[in-house]
Amino acid sequence: MTLSGKTAIVTGGNSGIGKAIVLALAEQGANVVIDYISHPEATEELERQVAALGDKVIGVEADVSNVDDLKRLVSAAVDAFGRLDVMVNNAGIETRTGILDTTEAQFEKVIAVNLKSAFFGTQLAATQMIAQDSPGGVVINISSVHEEWPMPGNIAYSCSKGAMKMLTRTAAVELGPKGVRVVGIGPGAVATPINTVEMTPETLARLNAYIPLGRMAQPEEIASVVAFLAGPGASYVTGATIFADAAIMLQSPGL
Ligand code: NAD
Repeated sequence: MTLSGKTAIVTGGNSGIGKAIVLALAEQGANVVIDYISHPEATEELERQVAALGDKVIGVEADVSNVDDLKRLVSAAVDAFGRLDVMVNNAGIETRTGILDTTEAQFEKVIAVNLKSAFFGTQLAATQMIAQDSPGGVVINISSVHEEWPMPGNIAYSCSKGAMKMLTRTAAVELGPKGVRVVGIGPGAVATPINTVEMTPETLARLNAYIPLGRMAQPEEIASVVAFLAGPGASYVTGATIFADAAIMLQSPGL
């Protein structure tokens, strides 16, 4: 139980990787705040799962692309549990459009949900972490291998994750002296709704053939890295993105 007495927020926390992160942090004893924008019933079911682990949990409906909602999210965590120790900026979307066909509205939405949310989520979480008794904490940005590796046909997403890389690195330099670590995790393909919903068996087989480990990651495998980075075993880790799996960038010409 490496996170007993700690409080964590997970944005986009009621599905996919976020849901697995909520459970992984709860398994380590954290109080958890589940941010969500849709499917309140999924949040309620996850709250029951966390409570069954013996941890405290609340769900907060908040659109992370809106700074006022982010403020309300951080306030809800502090009101419920008294402090904030772990901020996981996980919410994300993609358009699967390229440079020639991405509209202004699509670009702005992807940047707002994926990047602006993490920027102001980091700012607001760090402000709380610095001000509280026993200051300190960790911000974990869920990025992607596409912060490094171009994804043709998903360019706004790639731009958002590329900028997230510099958010992680720059904020880590600014916040390290104040006791706040900032780290990133860059998954390769993970079996979640974001990339399985419209996948045919043929597309899946082609994808798996590109992956050096031969399969997509499971959300729980990414969540276990989050739990490690949030805990005392990673207390001197900051300013970098951990890629899972980085080998895909070395082998694959692009998908
Ligand atoms: P997902 O679609 O299950 O999760 C995304 C979550 O973000 C959803 O719960 C959604 O409701 C939430 N969300 C979207 N807009 C929001 C908003 N405005 N406010 C609050 N929440 C919002 O997909 P996932 O695969 O679990 O994605 C989670 C993160 O992992 C994303 O940042 C994604 O870019 C990243 N990622 C995923 C993969 C993958 O292969 N699945 C690979 C690399 C990185």
